[in-house]
Order: sequence, then C-alpha cells, then structure tokens
Amino acid sequence: MNFIKLIIVFILFLSHLNSKELEKISLQLDWLHQFQFAGYYIAKEKNFYKDENLDVEIKEYNFNINLVDTILTSKSEYGVGKSSLIIDKLENKKIILLAAIYQNSPMVLISLKKSNINKAKNLLNKKIMLTPDARSTASINSMIISQGLKLKDINFKAHSFNLDDLINGKTDAMGCYLSNEPFLLEQKNIDFEIHNPSEYGFDFYGGILFTSEEELNKNPLRVKNFHKATLRGWEYAFAHIEETAKLIYDKYNTQNKTLESLIYEGKVLKKLSKVEEGLLGNIDSKKIEEIKRLYLLLALAKNNEDFKLNDLIYDPNKIKLTKKEKEFIAKNKITLLTNSNFAPFTMIHKDKLSGIEIDYWKLINKKLNILVENMQIVEKNNTALEMIKKNQNYIKYAFGKNDSNNFTKNTNIIGKIAIGIVTLTDKPFISDITELSNKKIAISKYSNLYDYYKSKYSQINYIETKSLNESLELLSQKKVFGIIGKLPTLSYNITKRSLTNMKISGTFHEKFNIKLLVNKDNEILLNILNKVISTITQKEKDEINSKYYSIIYQTSIDYSWLYKIVIPLLIIIFIVVFTNRKLNKEIKKRKIIEEELNKVANIDSLTNIFNRRKIESLYENEIIRTKRYRRELSIIFFDIDDFKQINDKLGHAIGDEVLIRLASIVKTNIRNSDFFGRWGGEEFVIILPETNKEKATNVAYILKDKINSTDFNIERTVTCSFGVSQFEETDSADTLLTRADNAMYYVKINGKDSVKVI
Ligand code: GH3
Ligand code: MG
Ligand code: MG
Repeated sequence: MNFIKLIIVFILFLSHLNSKELEKISLQLDWLHQFQFAGYYIAKEKNFYKDENLDVEIKEYNFNINLVDTILTSKSEYGVGKSSLIIDKLENKKIILLAAIYQNSPMVLISLKKSNINKAKNLLNKKIMLTPDARSTASINSMIISQGLKLKDINFKAHSFNLDDLINGKTDAMGCYLSNEPFLLEQKNIDFEIHNPSEYGFDFYGGILFTSEEELNKNPLRVKNFHKATLRGWEYAFAHIEETAKLIYDKYNTQNKTLESLIYEGKVLKKLSKVEEGLLGNIDSKKIEEIKRLYLLLALAKNNEDFKLNDLIYDPNKIKLTKKEKEFIAKNKITLLTNSNFAPFTMIHKDKLSGIEIDYWKLINKKLNILVENMQIVEKNNTALEMIKKNQNYIKYAFGKNDSNNFTKNTNIIGKIAIGIVTLTDKPFISDITELSNKKIAISKYSNLYDYYKSKYSQINYIETKSLNESLELLSQKKVFGIIGKLPTLSYNITKRSLTNMKISGTFHEKFNIKLLVNKDNEILLNILNKVISTITQKEKDEINSKYYSIIYQTSIDYSWLYKIVIPLLIIIFIVVFTNRKLNKEIKKRKIIEEELNKVANIDSLTNIFNRRKIESLYENEIIRTKRYRRELSIIFFDIDDFKQINDKLGHAIGDEVLIRLASIVKTNIRNSDFFGRWGGEEFVIILPETNKEKATNVAYILKDKINSTDFNIERTVTCSFGVSQFEETDSADTLLTRADNAMYYVKINGKDSVKVI
C-alpha cells in the first residue's frame, strides 16, 4: 500500500516537474464588480497575466473583510484601495503602492438642481449622505471646510446607497461615484449638480493597486510582472471600452448593471485615468505628500517620522534587499569568470575587458552599489565550471546546454540575443528558416546553437566548422550558402573585418537567453542577482546593445539619455528634499487648517498661482467693478506653444517644471495689482485692472521676451502665443474673454510666438 502511495507521489512529482505551472495569486477588490476594475478582468481574460506565468483570482469585495489586513496577512497578495492607504502607511502598515489607476478620485457629492446648491458653499445646514468612514471621504470634507463651512454645520446622515433618497429629498446631497450615479440621473431626466473635490483643488488618487512589503521582498519579479500585465490590461480596457463593458456584462455582472451604464462608466473612468496624457498608473510623490498633508490637517492621521515616500511608492527599477542580503553583499566578494575571446559579448578592447556581458555585469554592480566589478579571465568553460563548484562566490554567464549540470542554477534571463544568418550580398532576404532546407549552412560545432539547431531544423545541410573564422572563409569561397550564428557576433565580425561582400540576410524567431550561472548552494546570491535582474529596464538593455551596435555601425555615441535620465532624477531628488523640508513645519491648529484648505481650493498646486476657479471669480468681480466705476480693464490670455512636444520628448515631469518656471517668470514681471491664474493645462490668464489695451500689449511683449530669453534647460526655447483684449462698454465677462481667446487663437494659426490684440 505504502509503495503504491509512493509511486503516486512520484508520478505527481514528475508531472509537476514537466508542466510549467502558473503561479496562483489573488487580487482583492474594494468594491463590487464593475468597470472600475476593468483592467484586471481584461488582463485575466486576454491572458496578459498568463503571459507572465500568473494565474490571478479576482475577488469581489465583501463587507466583512479588512482590505489592508487581507493583503498584510497574504490572504490575497494584491489589493485595490483608495488614497487612504497613505493613512495606513502612516500607521506603519507595511504596504507598497504599485499604481494609481485614477489620477483623480471618482468620488464626488451630487445634489439636485432644484435644491439650488450650485456651489459647495451652499451646503450650510444641508443634509448630506456619506459613508461614515472619514478616511475615504476626506476629499469631500476638505472641499466643504475650504469653503468656510464647519463640519458640525452640516447634517451628515448615514449613506443608504439608495439614489431614490436623493431624488425624493430625504437628503440634499449624496456621496456618489462620478462614473455611476450621473448616468442613472440622466436616464431619469433629473437635473443635478456635481460638487467635485478635484475642481476645488483636492486632488486624491483612486483605484490604487497595492501589495505588501513582504510580497515585494520575496517575489520581486512576480510583482514586476503583475504590475506590467495589469497596466497592459488597463491600456486595453480603455482603448476598447465597448468590448470591455460587454465582457463585464457577460461575465462579471454581479450588480446587474446595464451594458449602457457600464460603457458610460468606462468613458468617465478613462478620463479620470488620464491614460491619454500618458499618466496611466502614475504615482507622483509630490501628490502623495500633498494628500498626506491634508490627512494630517484633518487629523485623520498622526505624523510618523518613519514615513518615507521611497518605501511607499513602488519603483520597478529599484532593488529592495533584505537585511540578510545586504549583509551578504557587504561581506562577500563576487567574481565573474569570463572568457576574453567572445566579441562583442566579452573582449579585450584597449587593454580592458569590455562587451555586452561585461556591461551587464557592471550594471548589476552599479545597481547593487558595489564599486569594484570583480572579474577574472578563465578561457576554458570547463575550468570556470570547476571553479564555481569549489567557490560559491564565483559566477559566470550561462550559454545553453553545455553549461547545465547539477551543481549550478541559472538566474532569471538578463537579456535575449537574436540568431541571424549571413550570406553573400547577392542573396535575397531570408524571412523563414525553412527557406534554408537542403542548403549548406556553416555553423561552429562548439557553438551552443549547434545541438539545438541540428535537432530542431534537421532539413538543413549543416557544415561543421571549428570557428567563425573558418565559416567566413567557407562562405567567401562560396562553399556554403550561409552561416548561422548569434546576431551580435555575426555583425561585429563582418564589420570589423570589412567583409563588404557579406550581409546579414535574416534573423529568426528563436532567441538565446543571457543568464548567469551560480553555485546552487548559494541561494542568497541567486536571489540577490534575480532581484537586480528584475530591475533591468528595456532602456538599459537597449543602451548596452546599441553601444556595441554603434561600434559595429560606426555611429557616434548617443548622450541624449543623459538628459532623459539624469535631469528628471535631479528634479525628483529636488522635489523629495523640498517637500520633506516643508513637512517638518507641520502645524495643526484649526485656524490654520481652514486657511490651508482655502489655499488649496484657490491656488493651483503645481504653479502656485490662482487656479481656474479663483481666477474666474476674481475676473467676475473685476468686471462688476469696471462696469460700476467705468474703469479700464484688460486681459491677456496666453498658451504655451507646442507644449505637447516638450511632454512627449522630455516627459511629464520636465513639462511640469517648465510650467512652474514659466509661472514664476510671469509672476515676477507683472504688477502686484494684476491677477494671474492658470486657466487649465498650459493656458494662463492675466487680469490687468486700470489698464488699457496698449499698456496690456506692452506687458504681453515684455513677457514674451522674458520667456523667450529664459533658458529652461531643455535644449529649446519656450514660446507662447498671447491674445490681448480690453473691456468695452457692451462687454460681458464672456465676450471679453472670447475676444482675448480669439486673439490668442489668431496667433496660433499664424505662426505662434507673438502677440495679437482684438
Ligand atoms: P499649441 O502650440 O497649438 O498650443 O500646441 P500644444 O502642444 O501646446 O497644445 P495641446 O493643447 O495639444 O497640448 C497641451 C498639452 O499640455 C497636452 C497636455 O498633456 C499638457 N498638459 C496639460 N496640463 C499639464 C500639466 O499639468 N503638466 C504637464 N507636464 N503637461 C500638461
Ligand atoms: Mg499649447
Ligand atoms: Mg492649450
């Protein structure tokens, strides 16, 4: 009996070895199935998770669970939560935020039009239905307080989650999701008013994907893959809203929503995700600091010295080593055994080891903060393997079959190498390996490609050679049709030897993997290397490859990456240092809370000038004053030229910096009595009381010159198009603004970078 059991176990064990099993993990949602979680369903149903070797169970919310505990106790590895996760972090919960799907939270207050609450100010003494959880309604509370109201002056009621209570007047306003209730009200033809905290400057994140520190420590690659597949799911969901809504309707419709309501939800949420601005999943440390500040102001959390943004926000390119691993790295010297005659992977160039593999090793060292890149040349593969067997701190690169043995283990894949074929230049392009059937193809018999190709494509007539040299010789004598080899090796040798009669005629689907080989008893080193490898970005890989291809093709070295990486990094460091300093001055007095919240509601958080809401209200006041006292008033409307290009080329962070600089230049070059505000995106408005259009035009020209002559550190000048207009007797607020806007538009369509008065 026992023997049979043993056999069954053994068979199970074997089948386990053979099938490449998917890793099972689960994701805990924070609400019921709806479009709000579309990206996850898509990543699952379209096999994006499977592509990363993951089998993800998506769990709907139920009211008995504590979301954060579920993740911390590994009942689910991943969760979706709200901005209030920042409070959890302040309470020392060990969580990591992976991606924020909604750049603005969908949570808003809704009132009916007939109740005449057209501004948040009018909520005084009104009934509001909100969930009792102050953490999740912080943005709404901030909006209310910022308007000079006190929370005790509001009649808060428990949320019934029944929209009829709003319709029937049981409550005056209700906490709702921008993506759900407006649709239902529209369908019933009921006019309503939305009070959106983000329009008051209280900009919280929504739909935050998070995990535990433990998961990130133990499974960095899994976190990276899950994160990647999830964002891929979201990209797809927002690009195919109707198809996605149909999928949810068919498979995940636990709430019995209509297909139309799911499509509506998708459209609203797409806007909130800012996917079209390239911000999908983005978590901005400055914004996290700002939200944290509001939580502290509202006394929803206590400040915590241990709160570090770097620990909270996931950076797929950062390595998190455990204490033990750090100690290991500090105490041990890891040596790469390498072969010097393997260009362009490893070679001696100007008396120094260089090549693709050497660069990867240097990169790994750099990421680990090790300054000495230990390397030792061992020409023979077998000798190197013997050395690894004896010394656990030796490693080498792995090349397929020849290296497999029972005392080493491979790391994860570092990079992939394409396989190519070289022929004489008069031969046509080879798109498929079957075109080589029965042709004579040279291949080095020592190459690790050989065994693989011989068994997989037996129809080829292989000519074994001892070296690439011999293969090239055979080809030039037309004794073979072509040579199969690793693409970098082939192109490097053709160029270096100036073999102008030869060319790369094709590449194949197969790729060979670059990995490292580690003594299998050295688990800790293997884990460390895998962690580092999981952080190597495509960009870093491209840089290494292009460096050796640039030798091959003799093009100059591209330093533009310096600007793309170093400058944003400096800005991030600057922002972190700056906001940290600001933080130290936390004050909690009630008066200050109101002042602060007021400021948030009036000041644009990026540029620190008036926001749209405030400048509009100032503008309306000025119009009234101008009319009443028959004064002069002009406005300047301006918009940055081709700003999208700055964002696209240099990234959103640099774009933000330009906005900040530009706003500060304008601010220092106008009078104190002028009002300056951000109208939206990269559009600004200046209100100039007691000013006629000639003077205003002058101001516009001065600003144009100042901006043009400023070095924004972005290798191009920044220009703007200005529209100027003066208030006339028959004008309303709208008509004056429209004229200035038209003037600006005139400049835009006539070459930009100029001033126009209408
Ligand atoms: P034009 O000369 O016609 O004005 O071209 P443009 O590229 O400046 O105009 P467009 O309106 O197409 O693009 C404006 C861009 O500004 C698009 C948007 O992503 C970006 N933008 C809006 N707000 C912000 C912001 O807060 N930060 C950053 N970095 N970019 C923003
Ligand atoms: Mg523009
Ligand atoms: Mg614009």
